[in-house]
Amino acid sequence: MNFRFLGTGNAGGVPLYGCECPACSRARLNKEHERHACSALIETECVRILLDAGLPNLGERFPAGTLDAVLLTHHHMDHVQGLFRVRWGRGNRLRVIGPEDLAGCDDLFKHPGILDFDTKAQPFQGFDLGDLRIMPLPLTHSRPTLGYCFEQNGQRIAYLTDTCGLPAETEAWLIEHPPNLLMLDCSYPPRSETPRNHNDLHMARRICDTLKPQHCYLTHIDHSFDTWLIGEPEALPDNMNIAHDGQALSI
Ligand SMILES: [Zn+2]
Ligand SMILES: [Zn+2]
Ligand SMILES: [Zn+2]
Repeated sequence: MNFRFLGTGNAGGVPLYGCECPACSRARLNKEHERHACSALIETECVRILLDAGLPNLGERFPAGTLDAVLLTHHHMDHVQGLFRVRWGRGNRLRVIGPEDLAGCDDLFKHPGILDFDTKAQPFQGFDLGDLRIMPLPLTHSRPTLGYCFEQNGQRIAYLTDTCGLPAETEAWLIEHPPNLLMLDCSYPPRSETPRNHNDLHMARRICDTLKPQHCYLTHIDHSFDTWLIGEPEALPDNMNIAHDGQALSI
């Protein structure tokens, strides 16, 4: 399996509009530190899947026919906004699989254009795309949200964003099916009060300690977390890394 982070930012991205904090100033000087809408690409020899569709220039990055499916974690704007332009395209329909959420995002369901929203991913009902086994895992967020565990040849990658902690049944499933690589929402630096919609570093560490992946990559990073890390460069344990836009991994 080849996995690539396309975007690793919180909804406002880095640099954040109008912000002059150390992380945002650094990203204006060096594009390598920019963070765009949280999304990823997962590929095998026979399938190519986009994980979330928040990048605004999706059509240019992935011309017609280059994706087998789009897998959505949920329908917040920063995870679907790239679909609004693609839907008016021509040619074959593009399969979009996501959680059951009657509201969807704006009028995407009412006017899907070439997007094929037919299939719903159901919690704990595994399905196959090409040679990948995919298990949808419920997450804790302000709308119906699913993480996904991808499996091929006994190797697993779990992609868990957006979430604040994990539902008990999701945690139990992942303990039984431990991921080699864990891609995890960690929007914020350690906070004294428990956050509501996304993990802070305390919560991400707790999840990582419970699931014990070989490596954990933190994503959906807020500019405040980047700034905190500039002052605490040694804060993360050995098996935990901050993901970067464009970072590629394979197992
Ligand atoms: Zn900032
Ligand atoms: Zn969200
Ligand atoms: Zn988000």
